[in-house]
Parts: sequence; structure tokens; C-alpha cells
Amino acid sequence: MTVRIGVLALQGDFREHISMLQSLGVTTAEVRTAEELEGVDALVIPGGESTTIGKLADRYGLIEPLRKRIAGGMPTLGTCAGMIFLASATVNHDQHQLGVLDAVVQRNAFGRQVDSFEADLNVDGVPGDPIHAVFIRAPWIEKVGADVEVLATVDGHPVFVRQDNILATSFHPELTDDTRVHAMIVDMTPIEEQI
Ligand code: GLN
Repeated sequence: MTVRIGVLALQGDFREHISMLQSLGVTTAEVRTAEELEGVDALVIPGGESTTIGKLADRYGLIEPLRKRIAGGMPTLGTCAGMIFLASATVNHDQHQLGVLDAVVQRNAFGRQVDSFEADLNVDGVPGDPIHAVFIRAPWIEKVGADVEVLATVDGHPVFVRQDNILATSFHPELTDDTRVHAMIVDMTPIEEQI
């Protein structure tokens, strides 16, 4: 008996998430259709380009099914563009977003001269060493709703948040050897939902 974790595979680095989840011993599935979404217990939305992910999700009729499953409690992890797609709004930009995470995000927030950087993050609720986080043209969270718990910040800006069944990171946990963020989503998947 194992948890079946889907990775939204429309665009972006979904393969890296699949490898990381497989290293944790769970069953994985690439999700591109509403039917494939029905077959998973939890979902990871990868980094990539959030406007492209949104457009493709719209074209494949996935927006409403995703909203329904995530609002219905399916454990979901969004990383980087995945975080943007989960959020309710984007500063100065109109794009397809699920609006299930009560947060306003700023895209490419760390500025052009620092497109990419790495930082050691102390994350609330994650014991042991800090998480070594890789940021690539990363968003930060500009504003969070009352139900959103901020787990880590960079320069005072939230970069890792949790709202009930939803985890969202500005960084790319799938690009390091540290499996702790993915382990959180596996641990959040209730045993009775496992198939
Ligand atoms: N800059 C991208 C966006 O705004 C996100 C980058 C990433 O996912 N690494 O969609």
C-alpha cells in the first residue's frame, strides 16, 4: 500500500519532482487531464513558467477540477511557478490562477540582477539543519490571508507558506538532495486515502 502522488506535467521541471518523490518510495503519476487528477491522492505543481502553466491548464480543462480537488482538501505542494499558480493574485499581472492559496505574489521578485541565488532557510516545523534553498527567478509573497502560516522568509518576505492542505515554496526543493519538503507532502496525505 503506497500513497499515489501526482505531478502536474504541463510544463516545467516535473521530472525532477517525480524522481525526488520516487526516492521517498511513493507511487507517482504525471497529471495532464482531469481523469489523471482523479487518480491521485496528492499533487505537486512544479516550477517553470506560471503563465504557460495557467494557459495550458485552462486549455486542458483543468482549472475547475484542480480548484475542486485542492479546495476539497487534497494535499498540494506548489514550487515557484507552482506557488504563483496556486495563489489568488499576482502584483501588476493578470494570469490564470487557482486562487486556492490566500496570498498575493510578486513574480521575479528578487530583481533581475539576482535571477538566481541560494540561501539556507530555517523553516518552522522542520527540525535539524536549515533547508538549502535554490531560487530561480523566484516570486515572493507580498500579502497573506489570515489562514496562511508563514514557515520561512528571505529579507522579511514569505518564501515558504502553509494553508491547511497546501504547501507553497518560492524555491526549488526538487533541485537539491534534501527530501524534507517532499516528505512533508507525503506525510500530509492521510492513510485512508492511500491506495
Ligand atoms: N519566473 C517564473 C514565473 O513567474 C517562475 C520561475 C520558476 O518557476 N523557477 O512564472
